Amino acid sequence: DELVSQIAAGEVVERPASVVRELVDNALDAGASQVTVRLLAGGVRLICVEDDGGGIAREELPLALKRHATSKIGSLADLESVATMGFRGEALAAIASVSEMSLLSREQGAATAFLLDASSGELRPAARSAGTTVEVKELFFSTPARRKFLKTDATEMAHCLEAVRRHALARPDVGFTVWHEGKLVEQWRAGTREQRLADVLGEDFLEQSVAVEHAIGPLRIRGRAGIPDAARSRADWQFAYVNGRYVRDKVITHAARSAYEDLLHGNRQPVYALYVEIDPTRVDVNVHPTKIEVRFRDSREVHQAVRHAVEGALSAPRA
Ligand code: ADP
Ligand code: MG
Repeated sequence: DELVSQIAAGEVVERPASVVRELVDNALDAGASQVTVRLLAGGVRLICVEDDGGGIAREELPLALKRHATSKIGSLADLESVATMGFRGEALAAIASVSEMSLLSREQGAATAFLLDASSGELRPAARSAGTTVEVKELFFSTPARRKFLKTDATEMAHCLEAVRRHALARPDVGFTVWHEGKLVEQWRAGTREQRLADVLGEDFLEQSVAVEHAIGPLRIRGRAGIPDAARSRADWQFAYVNGRYVRDKVITHAARSAYEDLLHGNRQPVYALYVEIDPTRVDVNVHPTKIEVRFRDSREVHQAVRHAVEGALSAPRA
């Protein structure tokens, strides 16, 4: 099973940012209202994610590290949502197989916290308020070949931050704090979506963007699109969400890009955050274990809707 986990790790854990993405994902799943990420050396030496969510009961701590032991498949009804969520219960096991991991958690209402050391299996009482802290140290320490592929700490840190940003734009109702080498890097307080967009993409983004709001039946596109003259020359400020989950999707990217056609010059890139809501039966999120890619049942429908939404927003007279 250790080997299977390491193979799974190859799929799920590419670099520190992958760990950040999965741990923050779990914190949000647990109902956290505040998520704190602490990193050392771009996450290679330490990734620590703290939340104030529901926590993990003592007897469930060892299970959290077992593949497919996810508590999120609790009933027959859940089996249906498994079909839409796919690949459950892989992440912690995969990460534990390529790092030194510990779980410190106190279930809401429990008298004490417990600490589980993943390598030794040792479980003992510890101190913590309700919620969970996952510590991941020395990523890829046992697989030097993988470790060699990591870039500089600064680059890995930038990727980690990008992973938090993606979650933060999906969940403005949750506060996020990021520390690196003991220094506060970002602090985004819980608030409205507009406020979060301003916090994450910069204060000027709200002024330099237009609201996107478009619905065709149950297919809805919302968000904000940067006005062309404020476009940046970097390609990584395009954020797309499908049913609340960050995705990298060629259909959406291409549709948005084509709405900017003739409006952008040189290699300037549009800045946008688009939130697509679609009937879950019309999208397959099981394409990739990290669920970062999706497949639409009718990609033309989505392409047209996104293009239309962004074009409409860009051509509307600005208020
Ligand atoms: P999945 O998220 O797909 O269920 P993971 O391997 O990411 O699988 O997590 C395994 C299990 O560990 C989760 O199903 C959950 O029960 C528990 N868990 C992990 N992180 C947290 C957390 N921050 N708070 C509460 N429970 C958690
Ligand atoms: Mg998970």
